[in-house]
Amino acid sequence: MTLRRLPIGTLVFAICLLLPIVALAGDEQVLRYFTAEEIARHDEYVRPLYSLWAIKQVWWLLFTLVFLLLQLNRKLKVRSDRLAARLAGPLGKLGALRRVGGVLTKLWGDATWGGAMVFVAAYLAIITLIDLPTDFYFGWVRERQHGLSVETFGRWSWDSTKGFVISVATFSTLAFGLYGLARRRRNWWLLLGAPCAVLLLGAGLLDPYRVQVYRDYEPLPDGPAHEAILRTLEKAGVEHEGVFQLKMRDTTRRVNAFIAGQGPTRRIVVWDTFIAAMTPGEVANAVGHELGHLRDRSPGRLVFASLCLVPYLWFIAVALRRLGRRGRLGFDGDRDVASLPAVLLLVWCVTTALNPIGGAYGRYLEHRADRYALELLEQPESFRSMMVKLASLNMADLHPPAWVVLLLASHPPTIERIERAEQFAREKGIAMAEPMPELFRAPEPKQRAAETKRAEPTTFEPAPPR
Ligand SMILES: [Zn+2]
Repeated sequence: MTLRRLPIGTLVFAICLLLPIVALAGDEQVLRYFTAEEIARHDEYVRPLYSLWAIKQVWWLLFTLVFLLLQLNRKLKVRSDRLAARLAGPLGKLGALRRVGGVLTKLWGDATWGGAMVFVAAYLAIITLIDLPTDFYFGWVRERQHGLSVETFGRWSWDSTKGFVISVATFSTLAFGLYGLARRRRNWWLLLGAPCAVLLLGAGLLDPYRVQVYRDYEPLPDGPAHEAILRTLEKAGVEHEGVFQLKMRDTTRRVNAFIAGQGPTRRIVVWDTFIAAMTPGEVANAVGHELGHLRDRSPGRLVFASLCLVPYLWFIAVALRRLGRRGRLGFDGDRDVASLPAVLLLVWCVTTALNPIGGAYGRYLEHRADRYALELLEQPESFRSMMVKLASLNMADLHPPAWVVLLLASHPPTIERIERAEQFAREKGIAMAEPMPELFRAPEPKQRAAETKRAEPTTFEPAPPR
């Protein structure tokens, strides 16, 4: 980064942080792109989600504190140890499992790793079950009521089950590494920091396969959208593994496009719902935006972000030792797996405290990616209509309250992004039509499907992810 760009970047970042505190767009501006009825419909969908978020924060905090103060973690750990000891007998008779168990015992230092893993799974099961009613209502019932989801209950249940299994596998692995090391070395936070940083860097490589757990990819069929994407990629000089569409149409009405993976696994991915809803110019602008993000994923930034893990882990280690000193919270320091609820609580505290800064930085990067797309393609009209359709089809909050932007928003408000595209057009002397809601109306799903059929009669099929 040159010295000239540094102050400008810092200034834009500061504006992104402070903007919500100042004033957001008034409804008169929003009404240039969306109808009053549409704004009200979006409000009806999105505003209760903020209340849900606030209630969940308080509930999660209270639940964990009560769990620790009543030492329910200690009781759960004792039961987990008993269950693991009972399972060890029959499972130990299976040759392959016995060998794996032997290796894990060596790594852990003794045979208590089984109880630790059962504890992790049991605690995750408890918090998943507690969240289940709200997840079911807000994640399935309400999404269908508002016409955003067309997912069957069976499919939703199956996806949720897969999500739970993946989280148990991930948390168990992390817990085994973290506590296994903490049992042997006091400076585990430093030793674990480096491999975790490498893991985080490497995790991006696996992105395309993680998505595949939920939904299928297929190469994007030839057509105007495919051509527009290839032209954009060529213009940006980006190498990739291919352009794919994700089969989303049988579960959702939402639209999205993203770049998954890194280096050799990099894929351009568009949801089939996105292809059906957008013109080739709009698709190109969305891909251009994603390519803008690629530029910000420089190895230097990633290494810096990953290295921040080391002080993070140090903080957790010190806090666990202090909190667990007298055993009043049901665990004995940072070597005891019963401290897992406290670890999650500490992570929650840090994340919540840093959210406004992280969010502002994220919004700053989104603005940079928008600018990149605009400069690459010089099609502000298509960029603007893509933004309007995106907000419309995904039922985004069209006039989010300032506190929501400050605490929750990963992206700048739609209206702000649209206005920046119009600003770009003025700078470049590119004429744009006077905005009015009718100009941007996305066709209704049925109409869209019919149009898609007409345009791509042979290969196009619907599809979805999460
Ligand atoms: Zn983005």
